[in-house]
Amino acid sequence: YGDPSQKIDYVFKVVLIGDSAVGKSQILARFARNEFSLDSKATIGVEFQTRTLLIQHKSVKAQIWDTAGQERYRAVTSAYYRGAVGAMLVYDITKRQTFDHIPRWLEELRGHADKNIVIILIGNKSDLEDERAVPTEDAKEFAQKEGLFFLETSALEATNVEDAFLTVLTEIFNIVN
Ligand code: GDP
Ligand code: MG
Repeated sequence: YGDPSQKIDYVFKVVLIGDSAVGKSQILARFARNEFSLDSKATIGVEFQTRTLLIQHKSVKAQIWDTAGQERYRAVTSAYYRGAVGAMLVYDITKRQTFDHIPRWLEELRGHADKNIVIILIGNKSDLEDERAVPTEDAKEFAQKEGLFFLETSALEATNVEDAFLTVLTEIFNIVN
């Protein structure tokens, strides 16, 4: 993905947040490298990956930050949020608790990040429909109330992952242009 020699018009920092094991690292692996692993290890140390893509003929380098096993409440530091122009708030559609924690993550995000940050709520693991514990409507309603974009994704099946990133990056692009 991306030709490293090309000139970069924009760099957008986007942060991934949400409870442990919801699939943040696999969503990032799918987006940045088109990879997926069923036995992904918990992420160690703050890290980010980049992918450069074209939006309206401009090259945009997306710098996507992944939490490093700091998913406990208030453990993510303000350095993680600094400079972020986008955020992906991820829960697991098969684990109700991960959705119930979303308001906390949102509060923490709004406390640390720029007030104009573009936020998308993501219900991941949509391939596990048989184990669904969070109705799509509940999440849609919450997102609408809070002014967030919303999509259900599957990092495993590569469903809507590209769309989720493009939604955020295009909205950021439109704000800065
Ligand atoms: P993180 O702690 O939020 O970074 O979660 P990981 O990306 O490490 O994923 C946790 C577990 O969920 C791993 O076993 C992944 O393989 C699995 N996983 C992640 N995304 C999906 C998905 O879309 N579908 C399914 N079935 N499993 C997933
Ligand atoms: Mg991880």
